[in-house]
Amino acid sequence: MTHSSLASTAAPGPLGARAAQLDAVHDATDRRSAFSLPADVVYLDGNSLGALPAAVPEVVQRLVTQQWGDRLVRSWNEHDWWGAPERVGDLVGALIGASPGQVVVTDSTSVNLAKVYLAAARMRPGRDIVLIDPGSFPTDLYVLQSAAGYAGWSIELATPDRAPERLRELGTRVALASYSSVDYRTGELWDLLAITEAAHDIGALASWDLCHSAGVLPVGLDAHGVDFAVGCGYKYLNGGPGAPAFVYVAQRHLASFHNPLSGWHGHARPFEMGPLYEPAPSITRARVGSPPLLSLLALEAALSAYDGLSIESVRARSLSLTSFFRECLDGLGADVDVVTPAADERRGSQVSLRHEQGLAVVQALIARGVIGDFRRPDIVRLGFAPLYLSHVDVLTAARHVAEVLASREYERPEFQSRAAVT
Ligand SMILES: *Cc1c(COP(=O)(O)O)cnc(C)c1O
Repeated sequence: MTHSSLASTAAPGPLGARAAQLDAVHDATDRRSAFSLPADVVYLDGNSLGALPAAVPEVVQRLVTQQWGDRLVRSWNEHDWWGAPERVGDLVGALIGASPGQVVVTDSTSVNLAKVYLAAARMRPGRDIVLIDPGSFPTDLYVLQSAAGYAGWSIELATPDRAPERLRELGTRVALASYSSVDYRTGELWDLLAITEAAHDIGALASWDLCHSAGVLPVGLDAHGVDFAVGCGYKYLNGGPGAPAFVYVAQRHLASFHNPLSGWHGHARPFEMGPLYEPAPSITRARVGSPPLLSLLALEAALSAYDGLSIESVRARSLSLTSFFRECLDGLGADVDVVTPAADERRGSQVSLRHEQGLAVVQALIARGVIGDFRRPDIVRLGFAPLYLSHVDVLTAARHVAEVLASREYERPEFQSRAAVT
């Protein structure tokens, strides 16, 4: 395998000139130097596992040797380990339009979905329908299937484009609408405001999965009156493998949010060690038990890559990268079927291609150093993490895509096998 063409990033030709020009326009949001990335890859999978922020290794090193090694259990107070879930939660909140005190970093997205679903059921007694997109990420569907059993809900499947209409039709039987802001396969950005308002019009609640939008576009949770939201720490937020997730509960719902997992970290006075559960009045009630501090504090360090950046400027860079990718594919005459919407207001931060040999295409690209991933049945998913990708990277990636498709390189036997994780 050769990466020679990846290395020659001084791309000639009109597209090369345009890439350089766009990189100059977006220079203020170029955070490449805040990340440690191998020189020989174009990383288009930051929507699955974000790249390593350069600040993280030193912070984790100090955390392990000093806070854990030297200070031992005293660090809970001395380094405010206890307050870290809320402290990091507020940092995430700033990126998703949540004012302080409504976001906590805790557990996984799957676990936080369970908390939200069961808490929502208690807040809307007597209602027996929950709406969800059948194209949701599987864990959202699986967790809801279990929660619906506890809640006595029946699950109504409605694609996001049809959700407002279905909510109006079903009316006051609906307790909750559970949707994802960006489709994990196609990268389509859905209308969060329209679905949230349609839910509220019939007295239902709206919960949003932000796994593919947190850190790349302004979600505006407070501004749009969203009730609950969850999302991952290890995708565009770059918290590292297995980083804890976040959960948002709007201020107005905190008093009535009953965490079904009523662990001691969510207690109002955990160190009184009393026999009865009494939830903390704050977002702390969404916590359960001891947090994974190494991961949590790695995420805190990772978020420093956003220092001084507005999420609007990050979004502008992201849109420029993804639209330039399409421009490059067109300009290079690549024979591709782009499934991600072309309109800016309908696109997250990825560009997905449909190809019947999608998995082999992805493997051929990875062999060339262009790392994306594959989603069944036929989606080549390319994520554009705006902080560390440039327009020159985008052109490099588009050239490899065009070459792999034109040469049918993906038909080689070595690209036909399937690993456990795709
Ligand atoms: C990645 C992703 C998840 C992952 O959930 P985990 O509990 O972290 O494994 C959930 N929902 C969506 C929409 C995702 O994209």
